[in-house]
Amino acid sequence: MTYVIPVPTPPALPVAGSSDLFPVRRVYCVGRNYAAHAREMGGDPTREPPFFFMKPADALQPVPNGTVVDHPYPPKTQNYHFEIEMVVALAKGGRDIPVSQALDHVFGYAVGLDMTRRDLQDEAKGLRRPWELGKGADYSGPVGPLVPASRIGHPQAGVISLTVDGVVRQKADLSDMIWSVAEQIAYLSSYFELAPGDVIFSGTPDGVGAVTQGQVMVGAIDGLGEINLRVV
Ligand code: MN
Repeated sequence: MTYVIPVPTPPALPVAGSSDLFPVRRVYCVGRNYAAHAREMGGDPTREPPFFFMKPADALQPVPNGTVVDHPYPPKTQNYHFEIEMVVALAKGGRDIPVSQALDHVFGYAVGLDMTRRDLQDEAKGLRRPWELGKGADYSGPVGPLVPASRIGHPQAGVISLTVDGVVRQKADLSDMIWSVAEQIAYLSSYFELAPGDVIFSGTPDGVGAVTQGQVMVGAIDGLGEINLRVV
């Protein structure tokens, strides 16, 4: 048997310091996982259960360290927002993974952006519609090289920041997360069977805002390097 159309190339992220690639299966994103951001979005930052949405795996935009990459401004929005996030890549999957074992499933970590057509997301919220038009735009998940946990361990503290044209817009500490990476993995695995290749965007701190064409975003996380994107 043969495929009736060409098989798409699987989405993949580069591994830092090597020519290896990490193939991406699914992309889960956690919402409102830093208290101050939950408040700025009109939510209650108490420890309610986390909630998740997904991005298409092929919406990820691999971004090498140390070079400014063009990031296309998507159609149909007048309010395109940055959200700096730590990205977690899973080497092992499973169901009902206990929190105490969850980090054993992690391959590595990277700097990522959950780019969002905020006007479309807000419209969807108002109409009680799903979020794909807001969250799933092509290229809406720029991600830097994955740094293996075997090299740096599991970052649980450290500065996460985003600047636009040199001005700091988001700055927080990974330890400000409401739900830890281990808790996110455990929680997700109670709803889905996780698998190698799954990727989790672990939420953004406060300070989200819009960018326009020509602006340069620099996202950085201690130990994971930085990514540089020019909105075009
Ligand atoms: Mn987000």
